[in-house]
This record gives sequence, structure tokens and C-alpha cells, in this order.
Amino acid sequence: MRWPGKCLPVVLAVSMTLSAARRPGDPLKPGYNLFSRDDDVQVGKEAAAEIRQRLPAVQNPFLQEYIARVGKRISAQSEAGGYPYTFTLVNEKSINAFALPGGPAFVFTGLLSIVDNEAELAGVLAHETAHVALRHGTHQATNANLIQIPVILASVLAGNSLFGQLAQIGIGVGANSVLLKFSRESEIEADALGTHLMAQAGYNPIEMAHFFEKLEAHGGPQLPQLLSDHPNPGNRVRAVDAEIRTLPRRSYGFVTGDFERAQRELGKTPAAKAAGLREPSGSYRQLKGRKFSFSYPDNWQTVGEPRADSVIIGNPQDGYGIIARYFSPKHGRTDLRAATDDLVSRLRVQPRGSPRRVQADGNPALVTQLFNGELLTVERPEGLFYLMWIGPNSAWDEIVNSIRFGN
Ligand SMILES: [Zn+2]
Repeated sequence: MRWPGKCLPVVLAVSMTLSAARRPGDPLKPGYNLFSRDDDVQVGKEAAAEIRQRLPAVQNPFLQEYIARVGKRISAQSEAGGYPYTFTLVNEKSINAFALPGGPAFVFTGLLSIVDNEAELAGVLAHETAHVALRHGTHQATNANLIQIPVILASVLAGNSLFGQLAQIGIGVGANSVLLKFSRESEIEADALGTHLMAQAGYNPIEMAHFFEKLEAHGGPQLPQLLSDHPNPGNRVRAVDAEIRTLPRRSYGFVTGDFERAQRELGKTPAAKAAGLREPSGSYRQLKGRKFSFSYPDNWQTVGEPRADSVIIGNPQDGYGIIARYFSPKHGRTDLRAATDDLVSRLRVQPRGSPRRVQADGNPALVTQLFNGELLTVERPEGLFYLMWIGPNSAWDEIVNSIRFGN
């Protein structure tokens, strides 16, 4: 009997103790859960079968083996709980990865294309593995459906599909699924256990926190799915650093040595790059701002007034697009490079290397490569004009070449 009649007071007591803040080094245990470990495995298996129908796996044995190898290094650690973990690379451009209860994990090509090193990839996998080990999905499903779940579990004993039954009360794997969208408390725990798993696997755990924070700061006008499912618990780097201090000292230099080859192979995979952007249509229309104009693909939507500031978003769901506007540098009129540096720090974007010099409508301009896009800056009488592009650069040249000032 899974549902003793006098269970509710226990539930309340458990949720009250859970609300106490966790200190670094405190034990990490799964929370209250009406599902069994086997139920987690069963739900995950059934949900994964549905996912595999929807998300095509990348047909590249090297890449699949690589993801599985890094995933296994993390999930083979004893604190991962011994679940039957699997790691599958799926051909989806958005920046995402998720793990279902009981172990099936999926990594999107969009995510693989934006990690800067293997430790960052391992960090995402460690964080996802931690959610599985701490059984956050079914813990949340338990809390959200205290009454229905015992009935469902009873019906599963009679031979019904567990995931099918959960789907009937709205616990699926779609947007905002209780199985995949985590609370801040769960995030704190997953970062802490992820820290342990990474350290045991020989990766520097701080890379996990760095990657999430980097994505937060530079992911674009709208959050990538990875961040909306894993809300920022705040002070990630500090929390992970504090957790590391509770662990035995280790050296963190592990790499498989295959990260660069994986990136090359990924480049050959059709449609693998982080994009999520509806492909530019090939025909353009003109946007007129305050004393500037440029062309943009005509299948994109514009947001904002056609005056001073303009934002163009290609695919609002993924948050990719263009922001064009004027900026007043802190120190007034300085040179283009100083004004650009000021802008870069104010936008909290991370440049990759030094800006390169280009021309925009005959004016000297700089292009700064960003973590996930490009930034064009031009000095104009109205201030520093900038055009920030988040997403793949397939239409970038076309847009830069179409810029005209002083309309
Ligand atoms: Zn998370």
C-alpha cells in the first residue's frame, strides 16, 4: 500500500523541513515522493519513447558516442544513484537539454554548438543527472497532485501505462511540464549535487555555474528553454564555489580529448548550429528608425515603434533577432572603440576577441563578435548607433550592407 491513510501530516512536516535553506556540504537526498524508484524509471522510459518520436536523433555515431561517454563519466558516479542513464544528441537548434525521471537525457545540437569546452557540456549533463538522482520530476509531480497520484499508481499496478495515466492529468513532457520545469529549490540542489558529480568525474564544477550564468547574461532578449526550465537560483558561482570547498581537494583537468572533433563533426550535421530562428526568407523589407534604416527578412516580426528604437525578432519563441538603437556613452564623445567598450559593458555581453573594422553606409564601424551573435557599432551625431544581432549570421551581411543613415 503506497498511500497510508494518515499520510498528509507527514507531507506537511516534510515540506516544512524542506523549506529550510541548505548549507554547503549538507547531505543531498530526494524529497518526499509517492513514486518509487522503479516508477521513475518506468515514467522516464515511456516518456522517452514519446520524445524519440518527436525529436530526431543525430545520425552520427561519433557524436552519439561522445555525448554518451561524457554523460557516462558523470552519471557513473555513485551519487548519481545508479539509474539506467542514457544520453542522446537530438537534432534541434534551440539551446536545451533535459533529463526525464529515471535517466533518459537528451542534449540538443543547439546546446552542443554553444558550449566553449567539454567541462561546460559536462556541467549541463551533471546538472541534469542531479535532477534525476534527486528525483525532482516525480517529487514535483507528487506535490502538485497529492490526491490523484495514489489512484494512478494503483491503476498502474493493474497493468496501465504510468506515463499514459500521468498524461491524463496533464503531467506530460510538453511545455511547462512539472517533470521538466524545476523550482529554485530544486535548482540549488541540482547545482550542489552536480558539483559533486563533476568533481568526482574530474571536471571543474565551477564551469557548470559559469555556463548557466553566461547563458543568462548573453542568451538573447528571451531566455533559451534551458533557462526557463532551470530558473536561476541566484549566486550560482558563489554557491558552487562554496560546495567545492566542502569536497576533498582534487585536480580538475579531465578531458576526453575529443571536444574539438565533436565540434567539427557537429559543423557537418545539417541544421545543427544554435539557431532556432526561422530561416530568413531571402526577401527583405525595410525598417525605418530615427535617422537610420536597414533591411530585414520579410518573414520576421518587428516589435516596437518605427521611430527611435527598434527591435526585430525573427522567432519570438527562441528570442533571436536584432536590436537597433542609439546609445549615449558614459564619457560622452570618445572614440568609437571606447564607446563600443562602454556599450559592451552596459549590455553585459561578452565579446569574443577584438572588434574588427568595417564600413556601414560609408562610416567607420566596428563589429564585435559576441557569445551568441554580433554587435555593430557606428558613431553618429545622434549617439553611438548599434545593431545587436542574436542568432545565426546567415542574414547578417545582407543587413549590415543595407544600413543607411540620415533618412
Ligand atoms: Zn535544473
